[in-house]
Amino acid sequence: MTDYEPVIGLEVHAQLLTRTKLFCGCSTNFGAPPNTNVCPVCLGLPGSLPVLNREAVAMAVRAAVALDCTIEETSIFARKNYFYPDLPKGYQISQYEEPFSRHGSLAVDLEGIHKRIGITRVHMEEDAGKNVHGVGGDSLVDLNRAGVPLVEIVGEPDLRSSTEAAAYLRALRDVLVFIGVNDGNLEEGSFRCDANVSLRPRGASKFGTRCEIKNINSFRFVQRAIDAEIARQTVILDAGGKITQETRSFDPDSGQTKTLRSKEDAHDYRYFPEPDLPPLALESGFVAAQKSALPELPAAMRRRFVDELKLPPAAALTLTGHPGYARFFAAACAGFDDPVKVANWVVNEVLRGAKAHGLEASFSVTPAQVSELLALVEAGEISGKQAKDVYAELEGHAERSPRSVVDARGMRVVSDEGALRAICEKVLSAHPEQVASIRAGKKGVLGFLVGQVMKESKGSANPKLVSSLLEKLTT
Ligand code: ADP
Ligand code: MG
Ligand code: ZN
Repeated sequence: MTDYEPVIGLEVHAQLLTRTKLFCGCSTNFGAPPNTNVCPVCLGLPGSLPVLNREAVAMAVRAAVALDCTIEETSIFARKNYFYPDLPKGYQISQYEEPFSRHGSLAVDLEGIHKRIGITRVHMEEDAGKNVHGVGGDSLVDLNRAGVPLVEIVGEPDLRSSTEAAAYLRALRDVLVFIGVNDGNLEEGSFRCDANVSLRPRGASKFGTRCEIKNINSFRFVQRAIDAEIARQTVILDAGGKITQETRSFDPDSGQTKTLRSKEDAHDYRYFPEPDLPPLALESGFVAAQKSALPELPAAMRRRFVDELKLPPAAALTLTGHPGYARFFAAACAGFDDPVKVANWVVNEVLRGAKAHGLEASFSVTPAQVSELLALVEAGEISGKQAKDVYAELEGHAERSPRSVVDARGMRVVSDEGALRAICEKVLSAHPEQVASIRAGKKGVLGFLVGQVMKESKGSANPKLVSSLLEKLTT
């Protein structure tokens, strides 16, 4: 048996979060009744003309510069011709030989090892509609999605395992979500992935024949689909067979990939330049504006959290898992200047009650509540244990302040020496035997007396102060 090296390249289609479609003013809003977000342009009616959406171009350029691509001064839209009921014009407007950007890369962190994965190109294209099968025995077409702007991001065949492929996909999604151009939703189809997989004998330089697995709709499936395809190809090659280039699909139920269409059935798209759109000319000022509009990217943020804020890598990873988490963390840090303590509280308490969907994240508390709570602990006004009780009363109540909860529950730690001294003296006179033991050198008994004072104060005494007072009073 030969030892094979997998070679993998991913093609990703990401929906740009514009309000309107790529070539018309129709809404991109999902969930609208079928065929309500349509017009002559996206229905492909004769005589209608496409007009390019400037915001879509801005977002596409932002994605390309975030992926370190070279931006072309001019690019050409082309017609990709094929017949399918969800494509009313009979062609899809895409970019083909002259995309607006090429030669990018994306750094992927693989257990601490950075690997740069090449990006062949990023281009713009319009989405097709959606066929809905089996409605009362019919197949129906919803064209709300037809004409929605997409970027296609074609990756170089630089990936060598399903783990690397999944890590690349995640890193790519993180970048697009952080720059606000895509909501990263594989399950809902706004971020879609095709995986190209081939094998070659380890050490060989020539690539083997690849198969393309279409439309994988979850991160878990990406890895499983690629592993299943690697296993399938290994069996064929080990038996002396040849891989046939084809398009396959992954069936999560059987865990297998299966043939969709062979190369012989491959479409001849007869691409030609779109006559209704002039070449796209990107001014350097426009590109520069998109570049300077880029926020800190997730990988850089992660590095800064570890190197400058001294967060544990796992916390840095969690807090950069969603831009909303990172924003919450930053806002809480603005109110309490100890990032490690803030991170600890956010990761362990806040994120348990957080929900992220698309670009939005929601929390059961506010960053200001967290910073105020941590400040109360820091000032010794409440203990860490009390902070958790206060927190439980803050959840779902943005209007409550930690201090008001502390006051209402009479929780405040008593650090007033005079008040505590009185309680200590009372406890000492009630326990003459224990005091004698301590004076005789049994320091361990002090803990018992601290406990009595805590009980007497109903848990509100500052235990550190009590301990030092008792020590003074018994010597
Ligand atoms: P298309 O899918 O339209 O034929 P390409 O030929 O440009 O387009 O290839 C698309 C994808 O296939 C790219 O992501 C590329 O990295 C990947 N790819 C190309 N050759 C191989 C190969 N031998 N093994 C695995 N992936 C490959
Ligand atoms: Mg392809
Ligand atoms: Zn329209």
